[in-house]
Amino acid sequence: MQADLRINARWVIPMSGDQTDNQTGNHANLLHHQAVFIKDGRILAVQDQAAVSHEATETINLPDHVLLPGYVNAHGHAAMSLFRGMADDLALMTWLQEHIWPAEGCWVDDAFVRDGTRLAIAEMLKCGTTTYADMYFYPGSGVESALEAGIRNVSFTPVLDFPTNFAQNADEYISKALAVRDHYKHHPLLTLGLGPHAPYTVSNGPLQEITTLADQLDMPIQIHLHETAFEVAQSIELFGCRPTQRLAELGFMTERVSCVHMTQINEQDLSILQHSGASVVHCPESNLKLASGFCPSAQLLNSQINVALGTDGAASNNDLNIQGEMKTAAMLAKAVASDAAAVPAAQALYMATMGGAKALGLDDQTGSLTPGKWADLQAVDLSQLAQQPLYDPISQLVYTDSSRATSHVWVAGKLLLNKGVLTTLDEEQIQHNARQWAARISKS
Ligand SMILES: [Zn+2]
Repeated sequence: MQADLRINARWVIPMSGDQTDNQTGNHANLLHHQAVFIKDGRILAVQDQAAVSHEATETINLPDHVLLPGYVNAHGHAAMSLFRGMADDLALMTWLQEHIWPAEGCWVDDAFVRDGTRLAIAEMLKCGTTTYADMYFYPGSGVESALEAGIRNVSFTPVLDFPTNFAQNADEYISKALAVRDHYKHHPLLTLGLGPHAPYTVSNGPLQEITTLADQLDMPIQIHLHETAFEVAQSIELFGCRPTQRLAELGFMTERVSCVHMTQINEQDLSILQHSGASVVHCPESNLKLASGFCPSAQLLNSQINVALGTDGAASNNDLNIQGEMKTAAMLAKAVASDAAAVPAAQALYMATMGGAKALGLDDQTGSLTPGKWADLQAVDLSQLAQQPLYDPISQLVYTDSSRATSHVWVAGKLLLNKGVLTTLDEEQIQHNARQWAARISKS
């Protein structure tokens, strides 16, 4: 068959095949001297370079590179990149109530979201991310920025009980979420979901309505859950039970839900996660920076719960680099489990690719180099100083500083990063806009 593109790479990590092996990190799935063929934006085949059965219109040679699925950043607030570094070294509730929410009240509108999301996407593409989840106000502007860049986006319109610039009450947030979904639902790069912010900001009525709507319209749901011990204690005081139990009793916990953070987990929470099929999105750097707690990711993985990785917003991280998140997740898991064998490199890579795709309901579309899936992939140049000497490419990806070595990124077969240069976004203009926002915000 005639492909559109053939990419010859020194190493390929398809992340396909037996997912149980991949998820446990037992099976490294590393191939040598492979050719990846792309046709009509999708993976056509992964074949040994010495035994190919396809022709291609164009060929790219990557002799020192590893080719792998693009990273999936399964949780973030893209436009908050404009608040990067604005309020550091504060606990979650102080950070939210005294800094972030007031700043959002002052500044967040369509223009802020457009410019902030462009900055976030540029940063994410340059370190190998091909799919990102976003939970932010004015999602239409965020989605337009994603389409302009050509990156895959899952947009969870936030829902809260209280008013913001974007909406006045839960009903209005929900109706805006449905309007965005109606407008963009057929676009192949986009998935529109519902993002009830947290159990402590959304009451039972809207949570139940969201569950019903998501079922009827086949939408994914994402919620911040068990981010801190305080959240759990407050729920016990107000509702007589832990947030996860409250959500389960409302019928909210299903496999379409991704639970962000989960730093507090007891046996009952674990059982609810297992039986519901809900995923956990682990954001280790945000949890560390806000001193929120430690998600026991090894325990979750050993209990066959799907775990994805997210950066959270740049205001609590302060970067959007999933490669760094893999390293932190692997290191933190070892410390939390007191076991250096916990979350080996291949398992961290699984969380950053297939785990993310699964959490967002996209595992039949992206997350591995499986024929028929979208050609969402990245190449990392392993010839650089920080990767020498090289015994194991998977180890180099997770444990060395490899984010700056990302050379190429394709989404649905379209080249969005070419030898480290963005092809669809104007980096100078993005920098200029970010500086202008910072000047305005810091004067206020
Ligand atoms: Zn978040």
